[in-house]
Amino acid sequence: MSIEEGEAVEKEASTPRARWWLFRKRILPIALTYAGLVLAPFCFSISGAVVAMLLLVLTGLGVTVGLHRLLTHRSFSTYRWVERTLATLGALAFQGGVVDWVAIHRLHHAHCDTEDDPHTPRYSFWRGHFLWLFRYDPRLADQNLKARYVRDLCKDPYMEFLEHWSIGLQGLLFLVLYLVGNFVEPDLGLSWAVYGVFVRATALQQMAWIVNSVSHTWGYRTYATRDQSVNCWWLTLPSLGEGWHNNHHAYPKSASFGLRWYELDLGFVAIRLLQALHLAWDVVLADEEVADRAAAQTTMKRERVPDPSRQQGDPGHLVRR
Ligand SMILES: [Zn+2]
Ligand SMILES: [Zn+2]
Repeated sequence: MSIEEGEAVEKEASTPRARWWLFRKRILPIALTYAGLVLAPFCFSISGAVVAMLLLVLTGLGVTVGLHRLLTHRSFSTYRWVERTLATLGALAFQGGVVDWVAIHRLHHAHCDTEDDPHTPRYSFWRGHFLWLFRYDPRLADQNLKARYVRDLCKDPYMEFLEHWSIGLQGLLFLVLYLVGNFVEPDLGLSWAVYGVFVRATALQQMAWIVNSVSHTWGYRTYATRDQSVNCWWLTLPSLGEGWHNNHHAYPKSASFGLRWYELDLGFVAIRLLQALHLAWDVVLADEEVADRAAAQTTMKRERVPDPSRQQGDPGHLVRR
């Protein structure tokens, strides 16, 4: 972004329209999440915590398998109803609208660790962690600009529905958990609802923020990608595989983020399960041996002339299984 473009964005960010966008899309969902969290100490129950854990795994898979590997990178193919189910679970994760999520992540890969990356920690760790959420971004606020990055999703009215009813879906989940909890045992409803919605959404949100900042800051690099991405082994279990972030930036289309036999990736285990049930096919994988060879070539190339194509991985090194 040039200085003139930056100044134009700053000017636009102070308009009422831009402020409304920021409030509606970013501030309101975060404020609601933390306002609800205040109730948690007053309504704890073991079954409420179990409900939160189950929903944490389900909606976490909705993010990593649904929003990330399927909708953003098209790492595998599936039936429309499976795609919509995964997208619904991703929407219930409460990390903004699903179309926004995909647009932000495609922008992240396209401009990784440059000024145009929405959430790079390169210039400030805290900006990459969460402060970026409070910055106006015309590429996301303007529907025509956003459509450039998510044209495929804009064709599906169900994705548009999930995009616009993000808060309503949390309200519906809250109501369902409240009613079911009270049905199981009177007085359990509020505990199930608060832990299943507010506590679970906060945990998931914190994990997403950690992946955005830490996995571009601390860890080891297997591949010499042009960004700062790293692999964080300790992040991989709670993030369901997202911790193998350097691998992912080297081979963004690969459905598996763990590229060594010991790099456990629970998100990919879920995709294998879908495949075993004949609910997923055309699963894209980075062949490990070729990946190693490509990494060596990347390192050699990088010492001479940086090759922009490496940032998106080389489709020639991907195999469909
Ligand atoms: Zn990244
Ligand atoms: Zn990605």
